Amino acid sequence: MKINTITNWAYGLTVLLTALSGAAFIASINSSAEERMAVETHLILNELGEELAIGAELRTDEARLYVMRGDPDHLEAFERTDQAEMALEESARDGTRLGTTPEETAFLNRIIADIDALQEMERAAIKAYQAGNIDRARGLLFGGAHYQAHLKLIDDVVQFRRMVQSRTDRELDTAHQRSDWFEFVAQISLALTATVFLGVLYFVLRRRVAVPLARMAGIVKRLASQDYEVEVPLDRRRDEIGELNRAVHVFRENGLERERLDAERRRDIKIKDLILKLMHRVQACQSLDELGDVLARYAPQIFPDLSGTLYLRADGHETLHCVSRWQTSFDDPLEIICEACWALRRGRAHYSALESKEDVICNHLADPNVSTLCIPLAAQGETIGLLSFSGAETSTEVAREDRVYLELIAENVALAAVNLNLRTRLSQLVEHDPLTGLLNRRSLDVAFGDFVQNPPILPTACLMIDIDHFKRINDEFGHEAGDTVMQSFAGLLREVVGDSGACYRFGGEEFVVILPDHDVDAAHEIAEDIRTRTAKMAIAHRGQSLGKVTISIGLAVAASAGALDTLLSRADSALLQAKVTGRNITLHETLELAPS
Ligand code: GH3
Ligand code: MG
Ligand code: MG
Repeated sequence: MKINTITNWAYGLTVLLTALSGAAFIASINSSAEERMAVETHLILNELGEELAIGAELRTDEARLYVMRGDPDHLEAFERTDQAEMALEESARDGTRLGTTPEETAFLNRIIADIDALQEMERAAIKAYQAGNIDRARGLLFGGAHYQAHLKLIDDVVQFRRMVQSRTDRELDTAHQRSDWFEFVAQISLALTATVFLGVLYFVLRRRVAVPLARMAGIVKRLASQDYEVEVPLDRRRDEIGELNRAVHVFRENGLERERLDAERRRDIKIKDLILKLMHRVQACQSLDELGDVLARYAPQIFPDLSGTLYLRADGHETLHCVSRWQTSFDDPLEIICEACWALRRGRAHYSALESKEDVICNHLADPNVSTLCIPLAAQGETIGLLSFSGAETSTEVAREDRVYLELIAENVALAAVNLNLRTRLSQLVEHDPLTGLLNRRSLDVAFGDFVQNPPILPTACLMIDIDHFKRINDEFGHEAGDTVMQSFAGLLREVVGDSGACYRFGGEEFVVILPDHDVDAAHEIAEDIRTRTAKMAIAHRGQSLGKVTISIGLAVAASAGALDTLLSRADSALLQAKVTGRNITLHETLELAPS
């Protein structure tokens, strides 16, 4: 029930109870008035009875004195008292005005009749006296009849007064009881009014003041300890407590806002710090795999709600390959074609979100319901890959304010990837022979230099290979054909040697193969494989067969680290020996130099 309803009801009840107690008090006062009236009536009637009896007695006395003394003053006094008695009788007859009961009226009439009987006897006695019949007159006034009549009068007056007394007592009793009852009702009503008033006052003070204040104190305490999660129910009342409530509400809102800004600032600092760390590591990467690994470690720390994939494009290809991914589902494609991505087509970041329906959605997405931000990786005007970030869950959006950071990451990754590609290309140029793709002489020198620090697994074999009569091929078919022969041979060499060792173009039409962990027999087997397969190789240039090509191989083995220094020259000596012997042969040096 609403507090207003309760107070309205209580107000109505107190008004009703007050009116009731007022009415009871008035009734009680009325009863007291009735009491007084009953007493007054009693006194009047009592006095009337007494006066009637006394008046009759006085009249009798005057009549008796007259007949005894014959003094006319007594006759005159008799008449006067008779007149007064008559007047009293008149007022006694009007019994209802005096408030007598019918019984009392009857008694009054009897008293009047008694008085009248005495008057009659006394007047008859006076008449007899005046007629000279003194004895008769005295007999009438002093005789038994007069005495009896006088006794009857006294008896009737006594009875009348008793009757009046008992009625008055009854009336007084009734009026008293009624007065007491009304007084009781008035007191109870007042007590109830006071109780209701105090009860409502307590209720209102408790509900409207004490409880809201206690609640507010609890809220303020929690807010003071920066617990802004506390609920502050809005109280729209227009008093001081309402104003306090609104002030606390504003305080909490400000606290929440400050906390939100603080959290945002802390998150911002953390993100920047992590991005800085990521950049340092990205710049120090030696390979694209390392780059992908660094990204997969840091990206989930920076944006825990986002999954991501790094795609890179091989030179001249229209397909992007996944280099690294984190927090993704297995459905995500490992390869995508450039055309499938709107970001790659447009050359700028593209956000695909099914819910927004604002923009087209990339075709390469495994689940189009997941919001995805695709950022093309471009450097020096060239698109080299794609970095895509998706909400880890369907409902997660890629926040607009995070996109600046994501693009910053993409920019750095793109720069690092371009640098790595450039580095790879440069090292390719520095370390490899452009015609055959094999490692060059410089690389061989570097490898032998490295053997001092990192010796290969011993025994290590070295093959020195020379194409037989190469000059003739050049002379007969031209230099380009000679180049084709060299490229074909290099391909075969790579194929046969595989992971067993490293192949170098030593210079001109001479090649070196280093085979770690190979003894003479193992190396000889490989050398013979190369030689025999070369001899069987059918080479053509511009549709023209270049005939059979043979090679001569010199083989040397270093069983100890000290023997590595002379490995190359010994293999060269063995090659010379092979040339001298007649070409198309593998010869291994027999002289093993002792370690220096
Ligand atoms: P031998 O069997 O004694 O080794 O005879 P050869 O003709 O192979 O040896 P020679 O040293 O007389 O000739 C090597 C030739 O290889 C000379 C040079 O013109 C040619 N040559 C060197 N480098 C290249 C190259 O890059 N391309 C082409 N086409 N020819 C090259
Ligand atoms: Mg040669
Ligand atoms: Mg040569």
